[in-house]
Amino acid sequence: MIELTDVHKSYAGGVRALDGVGVRIDAGELVGIVGPSGSGKSTMLHVLGTLDRPTSGQVRIAGHDVNTLEDAQLSALRASRIGFVFQQFHLAPGTTALDNVADGLLYSGRRCPERRELAARALTRVGLGHRLTHRPHELSGGERQRVAIARAVAGGPALLLADEPTGALDSASGSGVMKLLRDLHRDGTTVVIITHDNDIARSLPRQIGIRDGRIVSDSALVSLAGGLR
Ligand code: ADP
Repeated sequence: MIELTDVHKSYAGGVRALDGVGVRIDAGELVGIVGPSGSGKSTMLHVLGTLDRPTSGQVRIAGHDVNTLEDAQLSALRASRIGFVFQQFHLAPGTTALDNVADGLLYSGRRCPERRELAARALTRVGLGHRLTHRPHELSGGERQRVAIARAVAGGPALLLADEPTGALDSASGSGVMKLLRDLHRDGTTVVIITHDNDIARSLPRQIGIRDGRIVSDSALVSLAGGLR
């Protein structure tokens, strides 16, 4: 599903946000990327999600080499294969839950009635079938994040990328959101969750540790090494 090979990402001023990252994530995995603030997690998520191109190195997503794709092709890949969830929800204010989710499908090539039908289905799936006409300010934080998750998965993406999805939530709402992400994973979506919360990371089947733009641990490699011993 995802393969990064010797990926570097530098910013002006000599910041090396990613400094030689190599990692492979297979279809069907549920992975946590964990590290302190400033370690490069968000940059890695942007690169994984084709929102950003690496300065050097190879990124393969769902069989495509990102370096060889034009921006329009990258947008099409994103729209059809990848869903995003962010800490601050990023919902359109004053817009109903249904329209927030349906508008996320604008670039999917689907017509309006189908977009709204898929949106209603996704909202029902996240437990918000009774909140379709509520606007973000009429919803709790946990409910807003559920709307954002519904928007991310309404088009049936193969890959869901979540950047600190529980970071702005109280612990009960956060647990609900984590359960939802696990359910989506169980139903076949590959899920990558960025977190600086060690408890959340520990609860996931695979954890990748990042620090100073480098991968410093990978529980999948540890268990492989353990198996070979
Ligand atoms: P994290 O998500 O782990 O907090 P980031 O990926 O956001 O880390 O940032 C990694 C490093 O790259 C930090 O030093 C940050 O200041 C820097 N950085 C991130 N985005 C930019 C940018 N657009 N321009 C310059 N520096 C950036």
